[in-house]
Amino acid sequence: MRVDKPKLVIVGNGMVGHHFVEQLCEQQLNRHYDVTVFGAESLPAYDRVQLSKYFESSSADSLMLATQADYAAQGVVLHLGQQVNNIDQHKKQLTVNGETVLYDTLVLATGSFPFVPPIKGNDRRDCLVYRTIDDLEAIEQAATTAKSGVVIGGGLLGLEAANALSALGLDTHVVEFAPQLMSVQLNDRGGELLKQKIEALGLGVHLSKATQEIVDGERAQHRLNFSDGSWLETDMIVFSAGIRPQDALARASDISIGERGGIVIDDCCRTSAKDVYAIGECALWQQQIFGLVAPGYQMAKVAVSQIAKHLLDNSIVSPTTEALRFTGADMSTKLKLLGVDVASIGASRGFDNAQYVELSDVQAGVYKKLWLDETGEYLRGAVLVGNVDEYPNLLSQYLSGDALEEPAVTLLMADDSAPLALKDNAIVCSCHQVTKADIVEQVVAGNHQLAEIKSCTKAASGCGGCAAVVQQIIDETMQAQGLETESGICCHFDYDRQALFHLCQVENINDFEQLYQLHAKNGSSELALGCDICKPVAASIFATLENEYVLNENHVALQDSNDAYLGNLQKDGSYSVVPRVAGGEITPDKLIAMGQIAKRYDLYTKITGGQRIDMFGAALSDLPAIWSELIAEGFETGHAYGKSLRTVKSCVGNTWCRYGVQDSVGLAIALENRYKGLRSPHKIKFAVSGCTRECAEAQSKDIGVIATEKGWNLFVCGNGGMRPRHGDLFATDLSTEQLVSYIDRILMFYSKTAARLQRTSVWLESLAGGLEYLQSVVIENSLGLADELESQMHKVAANYQCEWKTSLQDDVFLQRFSEFINPKDAPLIDTKQYQYQRSQKFPISSEVETFSAVNHKLSTLGDIAITQLDEEEALV
Ligand SMILES: Cc1cc2nc3c(=O)[nH]c(=O)nc-3n(C[C@H](O)[C@H](O)[C@H](O)COP(=O)(O)OP(=O)(O)OC[C@H]3O[C@@H](n4cnc5c(N)ncnc54)[C@H](O)[C@@H]3O)c2cc1C
Repeated sequence: MRVDKPKLVIVGNGMVGHHFVEQLCEQQLNRHYDVTVFGAESLPAYDRVQLSKYFESSSADSLMLATQADYAAQGVVLHLGQQVNNIDQHKKQLTVNGETVLYDTLVLATGSFPFVPPIKGNDRRDCLVYRTIDDLEAIEQAATTAKSGVVIGGGLLGLEAANALSALGLDTHVVEFAPQLMSVQLNDRGGELLKQKIEALGLGVHLSKATQEIVDGERAQHRLNFSDGSWLETDMIVFSAGIRPQDALARASDISIGERGGIVIDDCCRTSAKDVYAIGECALWQQQIFGLVAPGYQMAKVAVSQIAKHLLDNSIVSPTTEALRFTGADMSTKLKLLGVDVASIGASRGFDNAQYVELSDVQAGVYKKLWLDETGEYLRGAVLVGNVDEYPNLLSQYLSGDALEEPAVTLLMADDSAPLALKDNAIVCSCHQVTKADIVEQVVAGNHQLAEIKSCTKAASGCGGCAAVVQQIIDETMQAQGLETESGICCHFDYDRQALFHLCQVENINDFEQLYQLHAKNGSSELALGCDICKPVAASIFATLENEYVLNENHVALQDSNDAYLGNLQKDGSYSVVPRVAGGEITPDKLIAMGQIAKRYDLYTKITGGQRIDMFGAALSDLPAIWSELIAEGFETGHAYGKSLRTVKSCVGNTWCRYGVQDSVGLAIALENRYKGLRSPHKIKFAVSGCTRECAEAQSKDIGVIATEKGWNLFVCGNGGMRPRHGDLFATDLSTEQLVSYIDRILMFYSKTAARLQRTSVWLESLAGGLEYLQSVVIENSLGLADELESQMHKVAANYQCEWKTSLQDDVFLQRFSEFINPKDAPLIDTKQYQYQRSQKFPISSEVETFSAVNHKLSTLGDIAITQLDEEEALV
């Protein structure tokens, strides 16, 4: 006699519903049930986390997690495009398209839907949401006729949607009700830095704006009227104002729903209805909805284990795993939003009596804050913006719950190249709960490719945020085994910077599209997308080879944000203006002109360690006017924004000083004028001292020159900063001509062979043979490259142009400086955000402190505030 198997029905074929089926099949429970899945969307489960990748190819193919055939192969029936309308929990039956379906066990995985605020006009044409493939198709369609787009909502998903609109070529704006972006994950300073970085990319960010209604626009399809009387016009709108649990089906069926929505579940993921489970974003556990995929996956595992237990209790299966319980989930996240790295761990917004360590590197656009408990011994939260290198170590420390072994500040001082300090049991992939030990075990077993590790451990196959760490663990494990590892610059290229340079030079490549088509990894997207690692590297290589205008049509999209605006974004959202003052020599007329310009635009002025005058506090929209006045007075750009030559510092030399033996100022000016505009792997600093008293501190520079009775001594590869290094004596008593030809060769050899963002000091240490090898290449011409290196440098010098001068003739560039869609309504810079001290303006948020206040603060245990600035541009 044939005995019918019990019926297991799953409603919802999103990421979590699919993971549930995978887990079920992995434990072979599908053999004991008739399994049926109903999904309302027309496609089987796809990777919603990577949804935006749809725009790379206008296709969902690469996102699909399974096909209907895969389900069938497991004996699972998948119905697509079928919405379940009703549950009768007493009769244990569902209604789908008017038909009745019986169940013994039911799993609700109905996910969530985007919340559209009840604003008048929210249903107008091209007012869309960002959740499904269908939504993205609609956005793509609307973008074909739109020029501008607004995203309502500045949270995680809103910024992702803004990224997509911007990539579709729309003038993009984000409108947020709260006074900061990503208010769930970031604290106010982290949110502020993120805003500045996003604005620097050319997107508008409008905070504290409550949209009251959407009506017809005058210059665009819609006008958003805000409660403060201001307005913004746009052609399309994407609502991303949060998600709401999709609980309509359960609600209509009298299953318990939380006060603010969500299907109430217990630790076993059971709902109030007998034999009905709920998992994923529709489920409410202890008053919490989890809007990330990892907790949903954990719930799926719990539900499968509970179903297995049920079979066990009925003696149908023998025990394989214990029944799990859901105990909550860590909501730490690491993401790249609009190219900006952002991470938050635990209590990222702080809490009462917390101690903290804060690091703000204004030049680099990096902000990091650690929250510690009141004893300062335990890490309770962290927020990282601009650089998230420490995320894996911090997360491991936070999740371990162990007391800190070192002062907390050391957690933020990690050396980039240092090995990961992860414990074996540290969770690396929180989506699939994969530990470091799990990955190491598979690497040792011979799985050396990221793809192999993904498939055998599932690490990095959820949100993908841990992929870089997984790769690092693979590399470190292989190195520990004495095996060679790959050294590609990023996920798009198998080549390092040196190899890419060589390819561009040999094959005359001067455009990213061509480089990508010819040399990107197999499997990279066919579109020349690249990323914010390979694009600026390519831009730097092209500039070193040809020294063309960096913002020309071919190169503009490759530049990082400082280069794109030819200015350094500061922490208050303003920009610095740094004209070149070669050798630190400046005429009284130029000093007066600079002072008058600074006064006119109310700029803070500071003489820097590089012997020039930085002007801070310029509004983005004022940059072109300030620069045109400076250029009219004979100034040119100082490249403070670029990875290029910064300054050549000098002492007064033998023209004025009793001890000077050579004209150090004259040489410094000549050197600065020769190498200005050279784009290199990292910034380069020079100094020239007129005698061995070394007043210009030349030995702490990349290129240091010290006068002797007979000529010049050349020192190379020194630097200041966090790990100071004295330069090495390279050659002695050189004539000026010899000196310049050696510097030409050294800098061009460095530009060709250094790794991305490698200072000359680290580069020299990485050269096999070190200083002696470099001397053999440059002085003895051991590689036969001397002529080529020199002629390459001549070409760079000959093609020099002041980028600001060129840019002021370029209308497309100038358009970037009008920040608002409605320029005549652009607000004036808010003078209230500045305070005046020592007769100059400072951002109020900079908390200018007196010496005694700083002393007092440092004596208060545990309240450590560190502001780390570029040593040259440091304000204190
Ligand atoms: C753009 C974007 C980026 C994201 N980025 C991240 C990230 O970086 N990290 C992260 O952790 N999470 C991220 N998320 C969130 C993540 O995608 C979700 O947590 C995850 O998809 C939730 O899965 P789910 O199965 O619970 O719900 P869903 O994926 O919403 O799936 C539910 C499915 O059920 C179907 N359904 C609903 N009602 C019925 C019914 N009555 N009958 C039949 N079918 C029904 C729905 O149509 C849907 O297909 C992102 C989400 C988006 C939209």
